[in-house]
Amino acid sequence: MRQRFKPWAKEKLIENPKYVSVEPEKMKGKWHAFFGNDNPIHIEVGTGKGQFINGMGKQNPNINYLGMELYDSIIITALDRILEDEKPNVKLIRADASHLLDYFEPGEIERVYLNFSDPWPKSKHAKRRLTHESFLKRYETVLKKPGEIHFKTDNQGLFEYSLHSMSTYGMFFNLVSLDLHKSDMEDNIMTEYEKKFSEKGFRIYRMEAQFRS
Ligand code: SAM
Repeated sequence: MRQRFKPWAKEKLIENPKYVSVEPEKMKGKWHAFFGNDNPIHIEVGTGKGQFINGMGKQNPNINYLGMELYDSIIITALDRILEDEKPNVKLIRADASHLLDYFEPGEIERVYLNFSDPWPKSKHAKRRLTHESFLKRYETVLKKPGEIHFKTDNQGLFEYSLHSMSTYGMFFNLVSLDLHKSDMEDNIMTEYEKKFSEKGFRIYRMEAQFRS
């Protein structure tokens, strides 16, 4: 995702601790208290500008959504969306998913969403893909059993890689769609990238994968 340097972004994130955690290590084991209830917590890793989690939060008020994003300058738009239309069940975490185990206790979350993750097409960068075995191991640890990953992408290569990586890891698939927008899924919430690429005629791939408990 293209980002423009926004020097004021960090300060604005810090000024909104009700909605954003910029020191997620301090929240480990306390995320339900952050939301003020015991509803399930779903995270979107690489939330970008937050269209998906905001839409999901509106659609499912009894689920808590945490959007995780690396960059201040991108997540700030997700914060603006929350502030425009305040929802108690949508919050943000400015953090790197590589350190997921520092942020969550085992079993603290119930689902991981990966939407249009960076494809890292060169094989020498495979370890950076969010569906690499090392990330699957982290997701499995923090997910309550049986944990699920819901994944969407326009990138056929990343989709094929992820199917292979997950099945090699021992996961199974509850759903695989090779053309989401021609499927019968009625409650799909589009992400920014999904809107952009589907408008250009790109096919969208989607899967729901589950760890073996
Ligand atoms: N999910 C959004 C969508 O579908 O419109 C954004 C997709 S964008 C291609 C991928 C996003 O993932 C970027 O904003 C990037 O900064 C974020 N990202 C990549 N690696 C990450 C990581 N390890 N932890 C957190 N966010 C990450």
